[in-house]
Amino acid sequence: MSTVTIEALTAGYGDGAPVLDELSLDVPDGAVVAVLGANGAGKTTLLRALTGLVPARSGRVLLDGTDLTGLPTEDRVRRGLALVPEGRGVVVELTVDENLRLGGLWRHRGAGLRSAVAEMYALFPALHRRRDAAGHTLSGGERQMLALARALVSHPDVLLLDEPSLGLAPLVVAQLLGVLRDTAARTGLTVLLAEQNVTGALSVADRGVVLSLGAVVADRPARELAADPALRHAYLGF
Ligand code: ATP
Repeated sequence: MSTVTIEALTAGYGDGAPVLDELSLDVPDGAVVAVLGANGAGKTTLLRALTGLVPARSGRVLLDGTDLTGLPTEDRVRRGLALVPEGRGVVVELTVDENLRLGGLWRHRGAGLRSAVAEMYALFPALHRRRDAAGHTLSGGERQMLALARALVSHPDVLLLDEPSLGLAPLVVAQLLGVLRDTAARTGLTVLLAEQNVTGALSVADRGVVLSLGAVVADRPARELAADPALRHAYLGF
């Protein structure tokens, strides 16, 4: 079980105005939820607040009913949360293989780690082909695949993905989102996917949530949201 419950969460940076304003959201076990919204709507801040990188000013974050709100990031990660930040987060000095093993280090040892890494190579054959290549020699698409694979290697219960399709060619985006959808369906992983790529995100999500000024202004089945031009126009800018 890995249900995320966000209750009236208010969070922001320093003494500034809150970026998240009493935001409430339920992400049930095994759901893939797309978090949409214009630039600056608060998508990144929401994912960072869930992992504890941005502190909550008020409200709560629960994982299967357990209050995580006061816990440091490493405790939340230990409880099964994994964040793939925007901009990839790959260690460029290390090889593909080293990055993957790093991802599984805290959750697997010995043969467990080897089989978790092998599982990722089966999911991402392109990474297998480049397993001895240094991170800095990878293309943008390969880096994003590596960032996702590195998060998956630890077998998280909840995956938080920030703009995985940013700057990638459409074919690579389709491949990446396809792996994400299949993995979620196969493993029951709970996913929160922040995206500017509305069409791509809604094609793999069960539900779409639209943020505006740090609050949820729409929360609908993905197919319904994709078919609503008025909503897209009002909040997503096209
Ligand atoms: P984008 O797609 O552009 O990343 P977003 O929906 O993810 O947009 P956030 O990055 O969460 O939005 O930003 C929400 C607001 O918080 C913006 O007004 C932004 O300027 C502000 N903000 C983000 N990061 C910081 C920071 N480190 N310090 C101060 N303000 C910040």
